[in-house]
Amino acid sequence: MRYSEQLDGRAAVVAVIGGGASGTLAATYLLRAAVAARIPLRIALIDRHGRHGLGQAYATVNPAHLLNSPADRMSAVAHEPGHLARWAAANGIEHDGFLPRAAFGRYLRELLADAERAAGPTATVSRITADVVALKYAGLHRPLRLHLAADGRIDADVAVLATGNQPPALPCPVPASPRYVPDPWAPGALDAVADGSPVVVLGTGLTMLDVAIAVTGAHPATVVHAVSRHALLPREHRHPGPDGSVRSPVLESLDGSPVGLPALIRRVRAAAAQAPDDWEAIVDALRPRISGLWQLLSPEDRRLFLRHAARYWEVHRHRVPPATARRIEQLRSAGRLSVLRGRLIAVSDKPAGLRVRVEQGARAAEVAAGWLINATGPAADITATSDRLLRGLLDGGLATPDPLRLGIEADANGAVLDVSGMPSDLVFTLGPPLRGQLYETNALPEIRDQAAALEGGLAAAGRARAAAGSAA
Ligand SMILES: Cc1cc2nc3c(=O)[nH]c(=O)nc-3n(C[C@H](O)[C@H](O)[C@H](O)COP(=O)(O)OP(=O)(O)OC[C@H]3O[C@@H](n4cnc5c(N)ncnc54)[C@H](O)[C@@H]3O)c2cc1C
Repeated sequence: MRYSEQLDGRAAVVAVIGGGASGTLAATYLLRAAVAARIPLRIALIDRHGRHGLGQAYATVNPAHLLNSPADRMSAVAHEPGHLARWAAANGIEHDGFLPRAAFGRYLRELLADAERAAGPTATVSRITADVVALKYAGLHRPLRLHLAADGRIDADVAVLATGNQPPALPCPVPASPRYVPDPWAPGALDAVADGSPVVVLGTGLTMLDVAIAVTGAHPATVVHAVSRHALLPREHRHPGPDGSVRSPVLESLDGSPVGLPALIRRVRAAAAQAPDDWEAIVDALRPRISGLWQLLSPEDRRLFLRHAARYWEVHRHRVPPATARRIEQLRSAGRLSVLRGRLIAVSDKPAGLRVRVEQGARAAEVAAGWLINATGPAADITATSDRLLRGLLDGGLATPDPLRLGIEADANGAVLDVSGMPSDLVFTLGPPLRGQLYETNALPEIRDQAAALEGGLAAAGRARAAAGSAA
């Protein structure tokens, strides 16, 4: 199928691949920029699961799945920190500072719909449910051609890769079994995990907490065993306040100056020691500086950080709302959630269910698992991806992995670097694919600011269209 009826014409076409928070905010900001610059624009917002405006994080309908950041840090409108809280009040949504994630998905959808209403007919959005399996230079009517799994195609002037995180990698060989859930955020992945049999969750981070809350809520007999090498759980929010609100001379001394990892860790510890009762404020003040500091670290220091320090940073940086912490504490004291420190080394499929072998130092424990759920977070090597679109972009040299192979490389405007390091003027990205380059690029504030910076892509689309028009 061709999407010609919706996208043909004299307007520039931007294909946004991925309909989650990144794609939705990219579309929202592109609409606004198109109206301001009076550039006729057609946006194809394409999502393989039809989760437009929601994506992986905000598609949940479980009311106990809350935002992990307070509402004043989740505004999708730059320089208006109160925007989300005002929207929630106007819509009668009650909360204790931490909104349900489903409500946030509604907020994103409404933001896009508002931008759409204000931009029409100059700029419009078509929401398309399709799996983009290849992106190639076409060079005919429009410079880019997107190939869809269902044998269709979309021709575009510019593409934005808003494809989110990679699904988790396999921690060890796992026999083919419907009782293994490789990605808990895939649509309907947890629906069947409601038969009361024990659930082993790999990983003890935020996703594990959400999974534990969901599966124990779905059946009163379900118990969860969560396994990770560190067995560290995310901390609880105690003093929600705006990011970076605290002044710390030690942290300020870090700004802009190259620093090695050991010195950086020493200075952060010194800053925390100066505020022993308020380490959260130090973590929050550090957080907007993370991308800058990350880029000043040597590749070897970045590797060392990932191997030895990242897990400790993550549990302090990504904290959970008090209501989530309370629920987890209840599950633990009722014996319905246990946390095991160890490394998964083998999984076997027996008639009675899966058996999971966990190495704990010199010993190994075997745990019966009605279900095994992989909540280890995004796969850490993009060059091993089996995603057809990313595979093709990497193999064809249109995109290049960052040195840590966590994602792909782009310039400061989100223009994707090709294999020779040249920024594309047609292919852009934002959000999780930039993890290796920025480290802190997954949360809403970063995604929002990157989406706003995509105006360069719009200008490129306008130029491409003008060039095509004059060549015709
Ligand atoms: C459970 C959870 C809770 C979170 N809570 C918070 C929070 O409280 N605060 C905060 O700031 N951040 C939070 N985050 C982080 C952040 O907001 C999300 O990771 C963010 O939503 C990322 O959005 P995205 O659009 O980049 O990725 P995704 O949401 O993964 O969306 C990408 C979309 O692209 C689609 N796609 C991918 N490839 C293709 C293709 N080839 N063709 C078509 N479609 C494709 C996928 O199906 C998916 O729908 C949370 C994340 C998670 C997972």
